[in-house]
Amino acid sequence: MSAANLDLVVRARRAVVGGTLRPCSVGVRAGRIVTVEAYGAGLDAAEIIDLAADEVLLPGLVDTHVHVNEPGRTQWEGFATATAAAAAGGVTTIVDMPLNSIPPTCDVSALEVKRESARGRCQVDVGFWGGAIPGNAADLRPLHEAGVFGFKCFLLPSGVAEFPPLDEAGLELAMREIAAFGGLLIVHAEDAGEIAEAPPGPGYAGFLRSRPPAAEQRAIETLLGAAARTGARVHVLHLSSAAALPAIGAARDRGVRVSVETCPHYLSFAAEEIPDGATWFKCCPPIRDGANRDALWRGLLAGQVDCVVSDHSPCTAELKTGDFAGAWGGIASLQLGLSAVWTAARPRGVPLAEVVGWMSARPAALAGLARKGALAAGRDADMCAFAPEDSFVVDAAALRHRNAVSAYHRKRLTGLVRRTWLRGRLVDGEPAGRLLGRTDEPAGRPLGRTES
Ligand SMILES: [Zn+2]
Repeated sequence: MSAANLDLVVRARRAVVGGTLRPCSVGVRAGRIVTVEAYGAGLDAAEIIDLAADEVLLPGLVDTHVHVNEPGRTQWEGFATATAAAAAGGVTTIVDMPLNSIPPTCDVSALEVKRESARGRCQVDVGFWGGAIPGNAADLRPLHEAGVFGFKCFLLPSGVAEFPPLDEAGLELAMREIAAFGGLLIVHAEDAGEIAEAPPGPGYAGFLRSRPPAAEQRAIETLLGAAARTGARVHVLHLSSAAALPAIGAARDRGVRVSVETCPHYLSFAAEEIPDGATWFKCCPPIRDGANRDALWRGLLAGQVDCVVSDHSPCTAELKTGDFAGAWGGIASLQLGLSAVWTAARPRGVPLAEVVGWMSARPAALAGLARKGALAAGRDADMCAFAPEDSFVVDAAALRHRNAVSAYHRKRLTGLVRRTWLRGRLVDGEPAGRLLGRTDEPAGRPLGRTES
């Protein structure tokens, strides 16, 4: 192409391109990357940006697990604040979960309500998951055709009455329907039969004991059995217990189409370090011990875990107080995910390019976002400048999400996102984000070892 037609060139001495760190120049026209060339290629454009020597150019991160909660629980989180937090953390695409907003995204009219709520408020691109709940099997195909990226279900009570769980018959029914149109089911996999009531009081240990690894194991086995019978493609959300990885791997080896994610908090914290009363660490499934955390890291490095996404699930500060039995379960980390994972990865010797793959290319592949997740010709020019040696101390009050609660408060994190571009435009507070639909995109290659 003619270099003179470029709108923007970003030059970086280090960039994550094709899974490795190397120098390059990225040429952008009309919001799209049109060429990736050598650092010294001399590309010309209306605007040329040279990153600072301590900055690495990354593809914008893709976070497929975000609870925005608007409308209905906008005091917990909304599109304006969530997408501001995303941009500040280098995340240029989020996919919103169907629950905690009212109505939940369980039919096409609710999806339209969501889109109306989001329109004109988003600083990054936003897509939507639908919900699979008892009685809405006939709504799944219309939602799929209306552009949701897949369907979330629970196998135990979700915490909100308007989004009930599927029982085994309901799960199988939803999976047969989803398999029929080639969709994706994403699953909160904990089994109520293995979970006790959390004891009252401030102790974390009692809460942890109430939700043992067996709860994840049993739910995942139920899911894998149904996936094998129905042929549906499934994804295990927010895996906490590394003990479930062998069962998932064995299912993949048998041809079951299954992928799995974990979250920054499971890779960052250990149960034995959580002080009593520190309910800002409460999430479900729970943060487990340090040995389990190490096993999750090994699973990631071995390719047994596909991606790392935030499960950003905020609420009001008030609902996060009390004891572990009563406090809302959810950790808000949309702005901090990359820094948190990099902080834990670096002392383990994990390369930055690997971390970035788990948080951009892999979640983009999960959702089929073919234009997202890489610095490559043809992709949207979604990028961020990340300073991996810089560090900062988290101040919950300074984060962009709505409520000043963070499990990372006062923690020093390594790696700072300094600038973010969405489709070649520096994100500066303007709501330039677009609402994405599955049908806007050419089919991406689905995630899962059996397909790669
Ligand atoms: Zn979630």
